[in-house]
Amino acid sequence: MDNKSHLYPQAPDAPPQYGDLGGPSMIPTELPPSAMPASVINVQQPQVYMQGVAQNHLGRMPTVATCPSCQARLLTTVKHEPSTKTHLLALLICLVGGICCCCVPYCVDSCQSAVHTCSSCGAFVGTYQN
Ligand SMILES: [Zn+2]
Repeated sequence: MDNKSHLYPQAPDAPPQYGDLGGPSMIPTELPPSAMPASVINVQQPQVYMQGVAQNHLGRMPTVATCPSCQARLLTTVKHEPSTKTHLLALLICLVGGICCCCVPYCVDSCQSAVHTCSSCGAFVGTYQN
């Protein structure tokens, strides 16, 4: 009898019970703050990546750009191709100046759109529209 009453008060005071309560209660309070910023960063990271790829400032002349295919940063190969604007300009010139002048926009690079391709792998980098 005396031994049992002596053991009882010790049971709630036992360290394993305290540690068991303190352990799980500590983890839930620590998880949300560390999980929230991680998800916010994960959402923003792809946007930064997209901006990095789209940062190629293409012009009419060969430009140093990052290839979206091989990631090489080198001078692009420019090919001038007639755009809708070129055809419209040719039609306008044909109506105003005659049929012999309508081919001028196709010969003038500034009237056409510049198609940039990677000089290393030949992948399409971008188009510069006048
Ligand atoms: Zn490339």
